[in-house]
Amino acid sequence: MTAPAIAPLAEALEHQPRCTAKFHTGHRPPAAFWVDQHGCIEQLVCLGCYTWLVDRWDEWISTVDQLNCPRCQTKFDAFTDAFHVVPLCPTSSQ
Ligand SMILES: [Zn+2]
Ligand SMILES: [Zn+2]
Repeated sequence: MTAPAIAPLAEALEHQPRCTAKFHTGHRPPAAFWVDQHGCIEQLVCLGCYTWLVDRWDEWISTVDQLNCPRCQTKFDAFTDAFHVVPLCPTSSQ
């Protein structure tokens, strides 16, 4: 039986990237995705924030057809055009 008695230390050693979204004040969940907003903004986000983003996109796009990037003013009508999402695969090398 190997109980994780040194969990905080192990976590620090893991180099687990954290969600960088501003929603979190205090504890930041582990990042699950790297979201590249077509080069304008790059951000590591957790599953919760990614889900939020996808939900908001669906909500916004259903009302305006196209969304303007606040940075470059490019119009997008597809989530996959606006965002390049890369799931972070935890390194399973042990
Ligand atoms: Zn988050
Ligand atoms: Zn842009």
